[in-house]
Amino acid sequence: MIVLKFGGTSVGTAANLANVKRIVEGLDSPAVVVVSALGGLTDMLIATAKMAASGNQEYLKEMEAISLRHHNIVSDVIKPGAGLSTLAKIDPLLQDLKRLYDGVCLIGDLPERTLCQIVSLGERMSSIIVADMIEGASHHDSLQFIKTEKWYDRNIAATELTTELIQAEFTSDTKYPVVVGGFIATDKNTGEITNLGRGGSDYTAALIAAALDAEVLQIWTDVDGFLTSDPRIIPEAHVVPRMSFVESMDLCTYGAKVIYPPTIYPVFHKNIPIRILNTFHPEVEGTYIADSCEFKGIQRNDIAGISSLKGTSLFSLRGRLIANEQNVHSRAVNALSCQGISILLMTQSPEETLFSFAIDSRNSERAVRLLKEEFAPELVERDLEVIEVTDRLATLAVVGDGIRNIPEISNIIIDILELQGIKVLAMSDKASETTVSFVIYEDSVHEALSTLHTQFFTNDK
Ligand code: ADP
Ligand code: ASP
Ligand code: MG
Repeated sequence: MIVLKFGGTSVGTAANLANVKRIVEGLDSPAVVVVSALGGLTDMLIATAKMAASGNQEYLKEMEAISLRHHNIVSDVIKPGAGLSTLAKIDPLLQDLKRLYDGVCLIGDLPERTLCQIVSLGERMSSIIVADMIEGASHHDSLQFIKTEKWYDRNIAATELTTELIQAEFTSDTKYPVVVGGFIATDKNTGEITNLGRGGSDYTAALIAAALDAEVLQIWTDVDGFLTSDPRIIPEAHVVPRMSFVESMDLCTYGAKVIYPPTIYPVFHKNIPIRILNTFHPEVEGTYIADSCEFKGIQRNDIAGISSLKGTSLFSLRGRLIANEQNVHSRAVNALSCQGISILLMTQSPEETLFSFAIDSRNSERAVRLLKEEFAPELVERDLEVIEVTDRLATLAVVGDGIRNIPEISNIIIDILELQGIKVLAMSDKASETTVSFVIYEDSVHEALSTLHTQFFTNDK
C-alpha cells in the first residue's frame, strides 16, 4: 500500500491532470490518492467569500467562473459519455457553494464555520473529478474519517480517532486506487466541517499513510524534490537527494513550503519514508526522506538546506528577574504555549539581564498581553523592566544533521552575514544539534539567503 498526494498545481489543469492519471494508472500496488483543490481555487473561494460578505456583487461573476472551471475540467478529463454522471455529483456542490455565498452576502458576515464549509468544496469537487478520471478508482469521503478537535482557537487533527476511522474505512473490500480530498475534515464532537489548515492536504496523506502502515508517502508537487532553499528566492537551489525526517521537519517549520510541517510527525513515528516527486517530471528521483540512520556512510553535504520565515517579531525581556529567576524562561514559554503560541527561537545575553525570543508576528499583540499578565507582579516591582517588541523581522534556519560536526557554525554564519552588512539580531542558543536559527531584518532575507547559499552549497552538485 502506498499513499500519494497531488497538490494544487498537479490538479490545476486538464493537461496536468493527464500526468496524474498516467502516474496513478501506472502503479502496481494498491494506492490511496489524496488531492488538493484545483490550483489556486482555495484562495479564490476565500476571496469570493470576502467579496460576498462585503456586499460586492462581483462575487456572482467569480461564482460563475468557479462553476465554469469545474465544468470545463470535467469535459476535458472525463471520457465522453461519463461526464454527465460526474457533473451530477459536482453540480449539487456548486449549488451549495452558490447558496453559501448568497447567505454570506445577505447577512453581510462571514462566520468561521461558513468559511470552512465554503473552502471544503474545493477538495470535495476535485476528489470526485480525479476519482472519475482514473480508470477503476473509487472515491471515499474524507469528511467521514478525518476528524479535528478544538485547541484554543484552532482546529487540530484528532489523531487517535482519525486513525481508528481510517482503519475502519479501508478494509479488504476496498477498491483501489482510492481517491480522497485532502485538507478537509469534520469536528469530532459537533460534526461541523473544518480543515487541517492551509496546505493541509499533505497532512491528510500522512495521517492515512500512518494509519494504514503504508510503504511510502509520495508527495507529488511542482518541483524536482526538496531543494536546498526556496527556488522562488534562490533560483540556483538544487535537489537534496536524501534528507532525514528531522532535517525536513526543521526546514518546513522554518518556512520550506514544500511540506506542511505537521505532516512529518505521523510518518516519522511509523518510520514510513516520504518521497518528494515532480508531477511534471515523474522520471526524476526527487528526495527520499527517512530516518538518518539509513544514510550512514552516504556522502552528503553537512547542511541540508536553508529556509526562511518572514513576519517574525522579536521579544526582549530585560531586568533583574532574568538573572535571578531560574524559571523565567519556562514561565514565558508556558504562558504563550498554553495559548497555542509557539516560540521560533530563544536566547539569553551573556550578562543574563536580557532574554529574547522570536514568534510569528500574527501572535504579537496577544503575546504582549499574556506576558504582561504572567509577569504583572514583577513589572510592578520593577524586577522586570521592559517587554520590548521588534517587528518586520525574519527567522532563518540553517539545517543539517552534519551541523553537530561544526561547533563554530553560529560564528561562521554571523561572520558571513556581517561581511555583507547584515545584522543578526538574535541567534538560537543550542536548542537543537542540527539546526541553527537566527533573526534578521525582513528586508535582508533575500541577500542573506543568497549569501549563505553560495557559501554552503557552491561546488555541491
Ligand atoms: P503543492 O500545491 O503541490 O502542495 P506547494 O506550493 O505547497 O505545492 O509547495 C511546493 C512549492 O514550495 C514549490 O513550488 C516551491 O516554490 C516551494 N518551496 C519553498 N521552499 C522549498 C524547498 N526548500 N524545496 C522545494 N520547494 C520549496
Ligand atoms: N487546498 C488547500 C490550500 O490551498 C489545501 C492544500 O492544498 O493542501 O491550502
Ligand atoms: Mg502544499
